[in-house]
Amino acid sequence: MMLTFAQGAIAPFWVGTRMSKPKPFVAPRVIVREQFPDGKDVVTVVAGSLRPYNQAHAPAALYDLETERVKAFPLHKLVGVDADVWTFRTYEQGMPVEQIIGQSYVFRPWWSQSAWELSRDSSRVWTKKALPDDGSHEHCEFTYVHIPNDDSTMSYESDGIWITSEAYERFIIGDEYHCRE
Ligand SMILES: [Zn+2]
Repeated sequence: MMLTFAQGAIAPFWVGTRMSKPKPFVAPRVIVREQFPDGKDVVTVVAGSLRPYNQAHAPAALYDLETERVKAFPLHKLVGVDADVWTFRTYEQGMPVEQIIGQSYVFRPWWSQSAWELSRDSSRVWTKKALPDDGSHEHCEFTYVHIPNDDSTMSYESDGIWITSEAYERFIIGDEYHCRE
């Protein structure tokens, strides 16, 4: 069977490996143990293995079990681990309207390992520039969106890695998910 992936979509982890019979990807499932407000933030404690993810656990979110697409709650930063019990902080967020404690969800990180490392790299120098219209084709490391080849659209580049102005403002300057502290 041929599998194709839409441009810009994230391929499953086994694409590109030499395994002849790839195991299908099974998203980790967790149970919400605790959830409580803390100032302007919310603290969420979930239990369960997060394999196959072994780093870049956050930012992430909990999604419904059936479609794995409906977001139940975002988890911005991992702040504690004890065996397979994981504590996350979500910034400037109210409690969910319906209580999620005791419920099971699919756990899914939002960023690749490389995007996560990029967000934490405070020594990296970013240069504001336009991607030239010379056949180069780049995607934002954080959001996967296409970087326009357009003299009037400014993006940011560092050692050949491109991100959009919005991603730069949100994740480098604004540190929206508190990766850099
Ligand atoms: Zn593209």
